[in-house]
Amino acid sequence: MDQVDPVSCAELIRSLPSFLDSEVEATESAALSAHLERCAHCLTIYRFERAVLDNLQAKLRTASVPPDLERRVLELIGSQTGHRNDGQAFSSE
Ligand SMILES: [Zn+2]
Repeated sequence: MDQVDPVSCAELIRSLPSFLDSEVEATESAALSAHLERCAHCLTIYRFERAVLDNLQAKLRTASVPPDLERRVLELIGSQTGHRNDGQAFSSE
Protein backbone atom coordinates (compact mmCIF):
# COMPACT_ATOMS: atom_id res chain seq x y z
CA MET A 1 0.00 0.00 0.00
CA ASP A 2 2.55 2.62 -0.99
CA GLN A 3 0.22 3.97 -3.61
CA VAL A 4 -0.55 7.69 -3.47
CA ASP A 5 -3.95 8.28 -1.87
CA PRO A 6 -6.34 9.89 -4.30
CA VAL A 7 -7.52 13.27 -3.09
CA SER A 8 -11.11 14.43 -3.30
CA CYS A 9 -12.18 17.71 -4.88
CA ALA A 10 -12.83 19.16 -1.41
CA GLU A 11 -9.33 18.22 -0.26
CA LEU A 12 -7.78 19.78 -3.35
CA ILE A 13 -9.65 23.06 -2.88
CA ARG A 14 -8.60 23.11 0.79
CA SER A 15 -4.93 22.52 -0.13
CA LEU A 16 -4.93 24.84 -3.14
CA PRO A 17 -3.48 27.95 -1.42
CA SER A 18 -0.57 25.92 0.01
CA PHE A 19 -0.14 24.10 -3.28
CA LEU A 20 0.08 27.40 -5.18
CA ASP A 21 2.69 28.64 -2.70
CA SER A 22 4.63 25.35 -3.10
CA GLU A 23 4.23 24.81 0.65
CA VAL A 24 2.96 21.21 0.46
CA GLU A 25 5.09 18.12 0.83
CA ALA A 26 6.24 16.24 -2.27
CA THR A 27 3.81 13.33 -1.75
CA GLU A 28 0.84 15.68 -1.31
CA SER A 29 1.98 17.75 -4.28
CA ALA A 30 2.07 14.61 -6.42
CA ALA A 31 -1.42 13.60 -5.28
CA LEU A 32 -2.81 17.07 -6.01
CA SER A 33 -1.15 17.15 -9.45
CA ALA A 34 -2.59 13.70 -10.21
CA HIS A 35 -6.06 14.95 -9.27
CA LEU A 36 -5.71 18.00 -11.52
CA GLU A 37 -4.84 15.72 -14.44
CA ARG A 38 -8.08 13.78 -13.93
CA CYS A 39 -10.48 16.53 -12.84
CA ALA A 40 -11.32 19.32 -15.30
CA HIS A 41 -13.42 21.09 -12.64
CA CYS A 42 -10.50 21.49 -10.23
CA LEU A 43 -8.10 22.27 -13.06
CA THR A 44 -10.26 25.25 -14.02
CA ILE A 45 -10.21 26.51 -10.42
CA TYR A 46 -6.47 25.90 -10.18
CA ARG A 47 -5.78 27.85 -13.38
CA PHE A 48 -7.98 30.72 -12.21
CA GLU A 49 -6.27 30.91 -8.80
CA ARG A 50 -2.85 30.65 -10.46
CA ALA A 51 -3.68 33.58 -12.78
CA VAL A 52 -4.96 35.72 -9.89
CA LEU A 53 -1.82 34.98 -7.89
CA ASP A 54 0.52 35.78 -10.80
CA ASN A 55 -1.36 39.02 -11.40
CA LEU A 56 -1.09 39.96 -7.72
CA GLN A 57 2.64 39.22 -7.57
CA ALA A 58 3.23 41.30 -10.70
CA LYS A 59 1.40 44.22 -9.06
CA LEU A 60 3.40 43.84 -5.84
CA ARG A 61 6.67 43.90 -7.80
CA THR A 62 5.64 47.12 -9.53
CA ALA A 63 4.58 48.70 -6.24
CA SER A 64 7.83 47.97 -4.43
CA VAL A 65 9.79 51.12 -3.60
CA PRO A 66 13.53 51.25 -4.34
CA PRO A 67 15.55 51.63 -1.09
CA ASP A 68 17.25 54.77 -2.37
CA LEU A 69 13.93 56.52 -3.01
CA GLU A 70 12.65 55.57 0.43
CA ARG A 71 15.80 57.05 2.02
CA ARG A 72 15.45 60.32 0.08
CA VAL A 73 11.77 60.67 1.02
CA LEU A 74 12.62 60.10 4.69
CA GLU A 75 15.36 62.75 4.48
CA LEU A 76 12.89 65.16 2.88
CA ILE A 77 10.32 64.57 5.64
CA GLY A 78 13.07 64.91 8.26
CA SER A 79 14.21 68.29 6.89
CA GLN A 80 10.63 69.57 6.78
CA THR A 81 9.71 68.52 10.31
CA GLY A 82 12.99 70.02 11.53
CA HIS A 83 12.07 73.31 9.91
CA ARG A 84 8.51 73.49 11.16
CA ASN A 85 8.08 71.61 14.39
CA ASP A 86 4.49 72.44 15.35
CA GLY A 87 3.05 69.44 13.41
CA GLN A 88 0.75 71.69 11.42
CA ALA A 89 1.45 69.99 8.11
CA PHE A 90 0.63 66.55 9.48
CA SER A 91 -2.36 67.54 11.67
CA SER A 92 -1.43 65.30 14.58
CA GLU A 93 -4.17 65.22 17.18
ZN1 LIG B 1 -11.60 17.68 -8.50
